[in-house]
Parts: sequence; C-alpha cells; structure tokens
Amino acid sequence: MNQPVLECKNICFSYHNLNGETKALTNISFQVNKGEFLAIVGPSGCGKSTLLSIIAGLLAPESGEVLVRDQEKGRIGYMLQQDHLLEWRTIWKNILLGPEITKTLTPEKEELAERLLSDYGLSKFKYKKPGELSGGMKQRAALIRTMVMEPGLLLLDEPFSALDYQTRLTVSADIGKIIRASGITAILITHDLSEAISLADRVIVLSKRPARIKNNIPVHLTIKDSSPLAARNAPEFQDLFNLLWKEISDEYEGL
Ligand code: ADP
Ligand code: MG
Repeated sequence: MNQPVLECKNICFSYHNLNGETKALTNISFQVNKGEFLAIVGPSGCGKSTLLSIIAGLLAPESGEVLVRDQEKGRIGYMLQQDHLLEWRTIWKNILLGPEITKTLTPEKEELAERLLSDYGLSKFKYKKPGELSGGMKQRAALIRTMVMEPGLLLLDEPFSALDYQTRLTVSADIGKIIRASGITAILITHDLSEAISLADRVIVLSKRPARIKNNIPVHLTIKDSSPLAARNAPEFQDLFNLLWKEISDEYEGL
C-alpha cells in the first residue's frame, strides 16, 4: 500500500505572548506521497514557516496531528533561507557535520559527500571556507549538508530567497533537478510562484493568517522533465501562474 510519507490532519496553531494570542494556522490537512515534490505558497506572514516547524517536530500543534511514515521517522531534513554554515570549518567539514555529530561518519558517507560535491559543482571548493564562496555556492553546500543525512523527507523554507535573481534561477533549477533525480520527497515553501510551478508536482495555496488551505493545484507541465528553467516555457505555465497569482492577490486585498 502506498502510505503517504506525511499526513497533516486538522492542524491548528496559535502563538501566545504578552500581547495576547496570534492565530497562525486553522485546520490544515493534506498528505504528501513518496517521491512527491510539494510547494506551499501563501502571503507573507500567513503561517508558512510555522507549518514547516510543526511538520519538522520543532513546534507542537495546538490540535490536530502530524503523521510521518515509519521509514521516514527521525529522517527529516530541514533547510532554511540562511545557509548557517560554520565559518571556521571548511566546506568538507561543514557538510560532514551531521554524520560527525550523530557518529554515523563512514567511508560510504564520505563517498556520498564527494559525489554530492561533484553533482553540485563544488568539488574544487572542498577545502575552502564558507567566506570564500558566493551566496549560490554556499546555499548549494548547505543543501549538500542536509542531503548527506539521507533524509526521507526534505523541508525547504524559502531556501533561495536570500539570493539575487540570476543566482536564484540557476541554483533553484540545479537543486530542483537534483532533488527530482534522487526521488526524495520534498516540501518547498516559497513566495515565488514561478519557482513553485517550475519545481513542484503540486502547489498548496494558503490564505492570509490564520492560514487555511485555499487551494491544492496539481502541476502538469508538458516539458517539466527537461529542466525547471525550460519548464517555464511550457504552454500551461502562464495559465497556472495566473491562477496562483489571482489566488494570492485575493488574500492581499484589505491588508
Ligand atoms: P510566514 O512564514 O508565512 O511568513 P510565519 O509562520 O513565520 O509566517 O508567522 C506567522 C505569524 O505568526 C506572523 O504573523 C508572525 O508574526 C507570527 N509569529 C511567528 N513567530 C512568532 C512567535 N515566536 N511569537 C509570536 N508570533 C509569532
Ligand atoms: Mg517564513
């Protein structure tokens, strides 16, 4: 049976502080199947990062539940907007940090790390420090560090938004291709609608805060498999973009 890798059931969440309550999520329910690449878009401040933190187990939902399939339990990879590389370690030492901490550093892990460095075009930078790399290269290195842990579910919270436009296009396309080739299950949060359509199999649209699911739109592009950049030229791309744009703009009305 194809049990979903992740199932969110009626998740609600509010922040409580001295100023009172901030309702962030209402009744969020969705599933992600194995190998699926899901994008989540929504207006800024609607609760996207909160939802990802709940999926990662960093926050507990107020009500509802997150079910992670047994094979993926404890194997969730999380990547953020900032690369959080350690400045005093080389790229090689940075990407092996996870296995080092969890005492799972084996020759096979090192082989995997070498292969990922080569796939992402970073082999030459193995012994450089993060400060010597461009923003795009650092973000690639941060993703390698996550991938070395062989996550069963990869969570990406606006991982490209600190990059300039040109770099963002290339890095997101490269990373998209590698994630797709590895068959890994991934959830990408982004406010870039073109990025969501070109990378994902499905896009969930969240409403403004407190976020609820407004729409759940499958992406079928005729030229998706060639490359995420080429996918932007698919005839269906513009229609999907317009549909998502309308959904999101409605949420900004009255804000
Ligand atoms: P998004 O990622 O969609 O931009 P977030 O999930 O970060 O939104 O935040 C959702 C809402 O919750 C925002 O209004 C934000 O200000 C608020 N929020 C986020 N973190 C906290 C916190 N630790 N305490 C109180 N409110 C918070
Ligand atoms: Mg966020």
